[in-house]
Amino acid sequence: MSESKYTVEYAKSGRSTCKKCKVKIEKGQMRIGVHIDNGQFEYVNWTHPACFTMPRKLNMGANAMTTQQFIEAHLEDTTGGEILPAKAEELATEIDKKVDLQKKGDDNHSGSPLDSIKQEYEQQQKDTDSGNEPLPKRTKSSSGKAVELYAKYKSLKVDELKDFLRWNRQVMTGTKDIVLFKAIDGNIYGRLARCVLCGGRLKMNSDCTKVICSGSFDEDTSMRIDCAYQVEVPEAPRWQPWYTEEPSEEEQEAMDKLESEASLDIPAPDPELDVDIGKLVKEAEKLEWKLTSKDGLRKAVAELTDVVQKHEGKSVDLPDDIGSAKMKVGEVIARNREKSAAELVPIIVQEFGFKESKVAKAAKKEAAMEIMVKEPKNLPLVAAFQELSELYFKEGNRNAGASYAKVVSALKELSYEVTEENAKGLGKGKTKVANIGKTSADRIFEFVCTGKMEKLIEKRADAS
Ligand SMILES: [Zn+2]
Ligand SMILES: [Zn+2]
Repeated sequence: MSESKYTVEYAKSGRSTCKKCKVKIEKGQMRIGVHIDNGQFEYVNWTHPACFTMPRKLNMGANAMTTQQFIEAHLEDTTGGEILPAKAEELATEIDKKVDLQKKGDDNHSGSPLDSIKQEYEQQQKDTDSGNEPLPKRTKSSSGKAVELYAKYKSLKVDELKDFLRWNRQVMTGTKDIVLFKAIDGNIYGRLARCVLCGGRLKMNSDCTKVICSGSFDEDTSMRIDCAYQVEVPEAPRWQPWYTEEPSEEEQEAMDKLESEASLDIPAPDPELDVDIGKLVKEAEKLEWKLTSKDGLRKAVAELTDVVQKHEGKSVDLPDDIGSAKMKVGEVIARNREKSAAELVPIIVQEFGFKESKVAKAAKKEAAMEIMVKEPKNLPLVAAFQELSELYFKEGNRNAGASYAKVVSALKELSYEVTEENAKGLGKGKTKVANIGKTSADRIFEFVCTGKMEKLIEKRADAS
């Protein structure tokens, strides 16, 4: 792990959670970011100023710094001067506040969510032993429920805890503490659903502070697809219920169905699908279908393309260019010479899908990305690299796909807007961000300058 970087700013959204006290940091509240480069990518841990503890190496020993000195020498104000130096003193007082010593601990990396549950449980035990009534609100909040479940589950064997995870089809790896935390978390929030970006399985990260995607497997190319999806634990997509005993056969079937629908190769579930296909079939039945002559074939291609594209209801997702659209339809006809126009409609729909279903799925993806991108202004950039990564995986280029997935991971963690001025610096020198190389930095620069990326346009064309 390399040298950490420290920044201060006003929270740009209400989406971050204080690493120390686990309370949401409200939009506009002052927050301190500890930027950590773990060798794979850089990430930021946010804390309230009052929850922030100076790193040991700076406030211990002969050269120990005061909080004031730390702010001056190490804290970077990313608001462009709104906080420092004017509010340095106020900030120092805030940092020196000992709000909650128990939770504050003595270094910035300690304090997993399970530790907080354990601490609260022990506090409750002490209260009970000394005859104090435990605070009633503790048993009502989600943390109160977590403590209750902890008391119930802590003496279970790891295999018994893993049964919960198996019944709910959750990733079962991890130490006993992690397995215990997953069982408590699932009981409170529900089963972790599938990744909104790639359909892969979601899991807790190693300290249970985030939900991440374990990637997916592409059967066409026999390749693992890396995925940068990441979300705060309470905001992760969930399915209900959480099973505390083995689910019945019907319940398992319901789980199968949800899982297969979440896989991205299958179009989004659409109860209207048969109705929409039915409408197109009716139109196709009206066509004169003579494939014996060249002219008849040409007419058939043009008319069937028309039917599936220019239709009152949903339209099939064929290329916008009419010539290319006809070529695609022509290929389907050529492969199925013996079939009627009406019989070809479901085949075409299955192959290309409806535009509207794809738009709905894309919107869902975009919403998922919006949650994970720290600086909302970087969303289009992150989305562009996400698409580029997916396209490389789709064409079977695992190396390029994986390295662009890492670029997505790096970009989504940036807490400042990427601009023409700073884009190239992401790939080199002092401002280099881990996993962004020169080529990627050039593409980032191109995108922030022009709103386009030639490589992406090229890959989209290859894929269609
Ligand atoms: Zn806090
Ligand atoms: Zn994923």
